[in-house]
Amino acid sequence: MTYDAVIIGGGLAGCAAATHLARRGLAVLLLEKQRYPVHKLCGEFLSVEVAASLERLGVLAAIQAAGAHPIDAVTVTTAGGAVFESALPGTALGLSRYRLDPLLFDHARRLGAEAHDGTAVRAVTGSLDDGFAVETAEETFAARVVLGAYGKRGLLDRKLDRPFLKKKEPYVAFKAHYEGVSIPGRIELHAFPGGYCGLSHVEDGRINACWIAHGRTLRAAGGDADVMIAQSLTQNAALARRFAAMRRTTDGFLALSQISFDLKGRFDGDLCMIGDTAGMIAPMCGDGMAMALRSAEMAAPLAAAFCAGHLAPEAFRHDYTAAWNREFRLRLRLGRWMHAGYVRPAVAHAGVRAVGAVPPLGRWLIRATRG
Ligand SMILES: Cc1cc2nc3c(=O)[nH]c(=O)nc-3n(C[C@H](O)[C@H](O)[C@H](O)COP(=O)(O)OP(=O)(O)OC[C@H]3O[C@@H](n4cnc5c(N)ncnc54)[C@H](O)[C@@H]3O)c2cc1C
Repeated sequence: MTYDAVIIGGGLAGCAAATHLARRGLAVLLLEKQRYPVHKLCGEFLSVEVAASLERLGVLAAIQAAGAHPIDAVTVTTAGGAVFESALPGTALGLSRYRLDPLLFDHARRLGAEAHDGTAVRAVTGSLDDGFAVETAEETFAARVVLGAYGKRGLLDRKLDRPFLKKKEPYVAFKAHYEGVSIPGRIELHAFPGGYCGLSHVEDGRINACWIAHGRTLRAAGGDADVMIAQSLTQNAALARRFAAMRRTTDGFLALSQISFDLKGRFDGDLCMIGDTAGMIAPMCGDGMAMALRSAEMAAPLAAAFCAGHLAPEAFRHDYTAAWNREFRLRLRLGRWMHAGYVRPAVAHAGVRAVGAVPPLGRWLIRATRG
């Protein structure tokens, strides 16, 4: 059998694309490497725009019922003690990826996509003109369109020799779940020299804590995440106050390195890239999942038009790339600047004081880093 679309990766972007395409009546195969449910490294903050996309996917009510915590305010602090507080432009949610991703995966399956977890794609060959072969350990699948939704960095990027791999990326990240404090309705971002830590509720009263830091901050801590995290608490009093009463509920930390905020390419050969596989916004913007869902919304109608013979390969490549650039390019750049400033104590302090003194500036930044 030849599928209309094979989607590589069952995270936010892949599940959303599979749902949109299955709803349009296409024969869709969704392949996910990991076996669900599984913990993933993420701030687990589902922005207002994520909630809107989930509504359009028809899955918002199920996510709220899964225990998502409503969040409508943000606090940003710096090592020097500056504080910015603001309402969010609507109600966001906190839900662990452990709960969220399987829910989206099952939703895509219910709407007609064939979905397999525990199935890694090893290679893809072919083109929009001739069709694709998608290879896993057990089987090779034929497809007319392939969507790459396999996240930040992986084996397939190396196989495709994608240019972004040539740049060494300095950032590392850690996350764990905690109990013991209550931060109802609020996401907090606390900066320390070389990085920052995000805190917000997920389901069942737990707190997700997610650190992102420059590799040299980790090296200065002897490469030990526990030491780096302990040092971050000595460098930001607001963060230390939170952790005074927090106990970790997960065994250890999930870790990630080589995090890229670069544009990676919306098409590679004839593979249409969505979500982080095309480019990820800096985590402090809390908009990566929204971009992943939105890029799937943008790619799906074009892929469907191509499969129906209404769009030539060149027009598919052009229209998706143009739409992606229009919607995300500036946002990504602004996110990179904000991130670069926030990990530098003097810049972070001046910036947070400025937005504290001129709240409309802070609200503008919140709006400008999202759709
Ligand atoms: C430190 C940090 C904190 C963040 N915090 C937030 C936040 O609070 N809010 C927010 O909105 N965004 C946040 N983000 C960004 C967000 O996590 C991503 O933008 C989002 O997960 C992108 O979704 P995706 O579907 O593109 O990729 P992913 O969610 O990474 O999904 C990709 C999937 O592909 C699978 N896969 C990989 N290779 C293969 C293969 N060969 N075959 C089959 N499957 C494969 C993976 O197992 C994975 O399930 C954060 C990012 C980082 C680094």
